[in-house]
Amino acid sequence: MHSTVGVIGGGQLARMMIAPAVELGVTIKVLEEAPGMSAELAATGVGDYRDLDTVVEFAQTVDVVTFDHEHVPQHILRALVDAGVPVHPGPDALLYAQDKLLMRRKITELGLPSPDWAAIENAEELGAFLDAHGGRGVVKTARGGYDGKGVRVVDDKNGADDWFTALAEDGRGGSLIVEELVDFVRELAQQVARRPSGEIAVYPVVETVQKGGVCAEVIAPAPTAGDAVRDAAGPASATTVSDAAREIAVRVAEGIGVTGMLAVELFETRDGRVLVNELAMRPHNSGHWTQDGAVTSQFEQHLRAVLDLPLGSTRPRDPWTVMINVLGGPAGATLQSRYADAMAAHPAAKLHGYGKDSRPGRKVGHVTVSGESLEDVLTDARGAAAFFE
Ligand code: ADP
Repeated sequence: MHSTVGVIGGGQLARMMIAPAVELGVTIKVLEEAPGMSAELAATGVGDYRDLDTVVEFAQTVDVVTFDHEHVPQHILRALVDAGVPVHPGPDALLYAQDKLLMRRKITELGLPSPDWAAIENAEELGAFLDAHGGRGVVKTARGGYDGKGVRVVDDKNGADDWFTALAEDGRGGSLIVEELVDFVRELAQQVARRPSGEIAVYPVVETVQKGGVCAEVIAPAPTAGDAVRDAAGPASATTVSDAAREIAVRVAEGIGVTGMLAVELFETRDGRVLVNELAMRPHNSGHWTQDGAVTSQFEQHLRAVLDLPLGSTRPRDPWTVMINVLGGPAGATLQSRYADAMAAHPAAKLHGYGKDSRPGRKVGHVTVSGESLEDVLTDARGAAAFFE
């Protein structure tokens, strides 16, 4: 068995892999981008993940390479593979988390449901799409977007001119994506883990609530997802939202050969369809609830998967778990300065801090609460999170 996992990127996802690695007795090493990042505790050095030599040198000290984010350039990933380093997820899969245009093409090719979409190279092409879709659409950059940056609702063919100009100036050319503005009733996320040897473990589908393009709350499992859907929801065989979500995620994981954790972000439409929004190939914000609410947390599961160990049970420990992100954190104070009050008032809440300074909008921690009644769990979790505003 491989026993040393190397994580590229020192953010909170890498940080949250440390505890399960310690518990399993697996060595974890982190290449952080700057000193003092969230995963500093396991950092063996500071280095630029865009520098081939830095990454190769780091990879030589571990048995398997995985990631805190999807930004490591393809040529570096391929060099690692060529050098015989196990990389999970591998470059052929990670490509679809790096480039939304390639992702849209692949999802369509796999016969899975997307919003109507098109690759566009200029304002005229955007205008033609808007005309055919009620005058509005969502324009996205193929690369480099996150937390809603690189996503814009437009109602005018010139609404993305600055992005076309930036693409042209970049010299690489390329396209933007435009999608229909989906009339969704809610957003969902479906996580699965897949081992290199092919085993797949499926988590319950969850409901995600975004504020300003950033994930704010997650409800696990998604309420009513087991109910029958009115219309054929995506894959023809699926009769419930949770079946549709599961089938989509398994087909994505197998279709693109993902190894490790995969999150498929989904829209549930007013007319009962389930559509793919985007993919993440690493532990994901929508899965933080599993730390306290599932038999196997997504962070342990990711380690198991990249080490090609048998996957753990995804069974929820309680009927409901709610996760609330702490966005921003208390101005001029640490999360920990509020712990005593929050803990005293909400003893059932589990508090997670990322070791980051407060900054408006920044994900600095999260709170989870599990229990029998969704209403009580929501109230408790929101109450606890409010201590960190
Ligand atoms: P990011 O990579 O920044 O997370 P996403 O593609 O997930 O970007 O989009 C961010 C948010 O924008 C989504 O969570 C959703 O709320 C909204 N959104 C994205 N695409 C569409 C769409 N086609 N129709 C309606 N809303 C959308």
